[in-house]
Amino acid sequence: MGSAPAGRRALITGITGQDGSYLAEQLLERGYRVYGLVRRLSTPNTRNISHLVDRVELLDGDLHDPASLDSAMRASEPDEIYNLAAQSFVGVSFNQPVVTGEVTGLGTVRLLEAMRSHADRARFYQAASSEMFGKVLVSPQDEHTAFHPRSPYGVAKVFAYWAAVNYRESYGLFVSNGILFNHESPRRGHEFVTRKISDGVARIHLGLAAKLRLGTLSTRRDWGYAPEYVDFMWRLLQAPRPDDFVGATGETHSVEEFVQLAFDRVGISDWKPHVELDPKFKRPAEVDMLCGNATKAKEQLGWVPKVRFPELVRIMVDNDLQLLGAARPAAR
Ligand code: NDP
Ligand code: GDP
Repeated sequence: MGSAPAGRRALITGITGQDGSYLAEQLLERGYRVYGLVRRLSTPNTRNISHLVDRVELLDGDLHDPASLDSAMRASEPDEIYNLAAQSFVGVSFNQPVVTGEVTGLGTVRLLEAMRSHADRARFYQAASSEMFGKVLVSPQDEHTAFHPRSPYGVAKVFAYWAAVNYRESYGLFVSNGILFNHESPRRGHEFVTRKISDGVARIHLGLAAKLRLGTLSTRRDWGYAPEYVDFMWRLLQAPRPDDFVGATGETHSVEEFVQLAFDRVGISDWKPHVELDPKFKRPAEVDMLCGNATKAKEQLGWVPKVRFPELVRIMVDNDLQLLGAARPAAR
């Protein structure tokens, strides 16, 4: 792991999420002073960072609220700003399009404005998404592929992406987009399909559940391992110039393949009786296939993801088995 000059300061929005928590760990290891923006919830959600609370400084704030973002900039005086906060779940974005646009889209502009007012020498990472490509006509997708988002989430991310580019071009700020393809881990939210499968399979194996209900088995994603993707974020901000980069494994796999490997991990080869399709989990519009080309990141950032699909499935299933109290399966 590369290190940074001593005393660097980073502000992370979304520190309680999957990526924010891994990023905070890595920045602390690199010697950063880490500040995290957290919003007020009736029940605090600090599970992912409970092991870090003594080492990071948490600042109250919300991407809805410009005054809180100004305060966070003034309190943290950041060298680097990582904007990871979002309403990040595509499925919910169809039911809450306005909130998604407010937080995932306009929230980015509010944070960019706070940076412009209080931290214009900082470097800004925007968490852009492969969901911006949406209905893809070419594969694999890279930095030149046209956007055709298929959800309110994708639309909001396209807005935020172009806002980031415009703050770079209009005001000369160091603002970069990381266009990351799906990345997963034991800290992934349970509503996402990978975690839903790993948790569901562990429960079925232990006799705690009978069925796994999914919306579709046929869609394909380029799934990587989240800790490697937060290293990408850091590398992006160490580049000599601000720019936009794709982060991906370059492999695409179906939901069905994930299901099959997950059941295989617990010794169930005939998985079909355990899985049901439920229209409740289908979306009004679908992104059928994503597959990224991260050649630019490899060549310019030296970033190469190592965890491949079967290992990712294994990590996630083993984690959920362990959380539910089961012994780790023998190596297969
Ligand atoms: P998570 O859903 O795990 O984390 C989202 C974070 O945003 C949480 O900390 C959440 O806080 C915070 N948040 C939500 N709303 C607000 C708000 N109004 N004000 C302040 N904070 C808020 O997402 P990931 O860690 O998986 O993803 C990080 C970023 O990367 C997101 O922007 C996501 O859209 C993007 N991305 C993710 C990909 C992936 O595969 N994981 C792929 C491409 C892009 P709380 O804990 O309070 O809910
Ligand atoms: P996304 O790529 O950001 O939408 O990540 P998700 O993990 O939410 O979904 C990945 C793919 O799995 C999408 O094509 C979903 O439609 C599909 N999928 C199939 N069944 C389910 C399900 O029950 N839940 C979720 N979240 N996704 C599902």
